Amino acid sequence: MKTAIYPGSFDPITNGHIDIIKRSRRLFDEICISVIHNPSKQSLFTMEERINIIQSVFVADSGVTVEGFEGLLVDFAKKKNTFNIIRGLRAVSDFDYEFQMALTNRKLEFRMNTVFFMTDEKYSYLSSSLVKELAVYGADINEFVPEEVACILNKKLDTAGGINK
Ligand code: ADP
Repeated sequence: MKTAIYPGSFDPITNGHIDIIKRSRRLFDEICISVIHNPSKQSLFTMEERINIIQSVFVADSGVTVEGFEGLLVDFAKKKNTFNIIRGLRAVSDFDYEFQMALTNRKLEFRMNTVFFMTDEKYSYLSSSLVKELAVYGADINEFVPEEVACILNKKLDTAGGINK
């Protein structure tokens, strides 16, 4: 069985991430979406919330699993015994960072291979940060995230009183 890990913050998951997951599912039998807990990066949603949101989006696809992790990706990969890493590329600006991460991971563990998928051009400008920013100002975000994610995000912002407040 061909398996891969798709690591990211997913704060929250967007249609851009979903596009990458659907593309990668054509190559891999199972994708483990790995939600990173990065203490130095402030996130709007807790790890548990981000995991629950992704699970609700992929409830119909048993080839997609979701797990949280903290620490080095290589350690998580060893624990899972899965060394294929999926990342998405939106524009050339993503490339430098992704190239550096891919080579670093391979330096740390020679079995690590990063597979890049290019986004659908209609999502090339899309990021979780952009969606959150639009939602804060009351813009319609239904084009950028699934309906249930838009609902949860708007509810969260109502409770939190907006980001950075
Ligand atoms: P990170 O903080 O690790 O970059 P993200 O959740 O922002 O986490 O992104 C996870 C992965 O998904 C990265 O490889 C990123 O380039 C990719 N990605 C994010 N948004 C999009 C998009 N709109 N289209 C394609 N790939 C995307």
